[in-house]
Amino acid sequence: MRIPFVSGNWKMNTMVTEAEKLILEMLDGLDRIEGVEKVLCPPFVSLVAVNMMLRDSSIKLGAQNMYFETKGAYTGEVSPLMLSELCEFVILGHSERRWYFGETDEIVNKKVKAALSNKLKPILCVGERLAENEAGKTKEVVNRQVTTALDRVDSVSDLVIAYEPVWAIGTGKAASGEQAAATIQFIRDVLAKLWDKSIAQDLRILYGGSVTSANIAEFISHPEIDGALVGGASLKAEEFVSIVEQTAKIKGRIR
Ligand code: PEP
Repeated sequence: MRIPFVSGNWKMNTMVTEAEKLILEMLDGLDRIEGVEKVLCPPFVSLVAVNMMLRDSSIKLGAQNMYFETKGAYTGEVSPLMLSELCEFVILGHSERRWYFGETDEIVNKKVKAALSNKLKPILCVGERLAENEAGKTKEVVNRQVTTALDRVDSVSDLVIAYEPVWAIGTGKAASGEQAAATIQFIRDVLAKLWDKSIAQDLRILYGGSVTSANIAEFISHPEIDGALVGGASLKAEEFVSIVEQTAKIKGRIR
């Protein structure tokens, strides 16, 4: 049985004081929702403050990125070891990292391995660009991204995958539930080939891309879709709480 999972990616938004305010606004609403794993990913500079605020709650903390080395002369980078003191999760391979910062599949693979060996759980993002989608290359791209990211990874039991078509991120043009479910099923088939069927069956795969409280139901009513990675809508407390609440209800966790 896969526990539904909803994560908020705040991206490069919120000053520390704003992050604290946002946590205060959503803490009670989120905390009372059971049966969904809830993960917030604020910017690095807010992790310490948010970690303290979430300490006695059911809400978990994630980072948005990390470097793959543990320590050393890498000015400006943040290591998995440093994050492991503060977070349980880390988003890796987000399309904004791939396309604005040149992260290749090979770099993502190094990061996945470094995260796991430092006891961080990766939320691995994959997804095709608009031109690739239009050229019918979605499966080819996603297959390559998943296969390379997981190359020589010993165990995927701590991994969550987010299928995020690049054309749907921050555009207000979400994929349809059917489109997302079909690609997620395909990812599960890829995992079954790489590992085995039961491992693929147990791994949670989310949809991400312009998810809001108005369209979350369309995604999570598909049994293949285990939850959502939410960007813009996770910066609004009421909106994000509603997304998590609907996930819990639709997945049968609360009435
Ligand atoms: C994201 O940043 O992962 C994302 C899905 O963003 P948005 O929900 O704003 O499209």
